[in-house]
Amino acid sequence: MTPLRKDVLHNLWKAGAPIGAYTPASSLRDDQGRGIAGPSVYRILKLFSAAGLVRRVDSKHSYCLIGLVTAQTDVLMMCDDCGRVAEISADKVRNLLSDCSGSVGFRPSSQPVEVAGRCLDCTQVYVRDK
Ligand SMILES: [Zn+2]
Repeated sequence: MTPLRKDVLHNLWKAGAPIGAYTPASSLRDDQGRGIAGPSVYRILKLFSAAGLVRRVDSKHSYCLIGLVTAQTDVLMMCDDCGRVAEISADKVRNLLSDCSGSVGFRPSSQPVEVAGRCLDCTQVYVRDK
């Protein structure tokens, strides 16, 4: 674990939500005055992805730490307001996707399903402010 890799991992943990590859780069520049090139951060994120530590969130063009609780994530529920992500493991979803894709001879190359919306906390703020 190099210091830069450790810093990128710390940035992902600190964010608590998916972040773009340039966020750690600018954070390290602001916090430590270190100029880190975006491609360097991308390489680290790809390495972490291959190691199963980080997940790319395709719809947000960002990355987040993989949850340590669920063995397999089938659905990512992402809050549009605060960026919080809930990982859900659901046999029903997995089986439904398998059945649907199998029925049309399709083999998915990406998973989990990404669902955008609003978390409970943000929904309560939204309702209160309306
Ligand atoms: Zn939220």
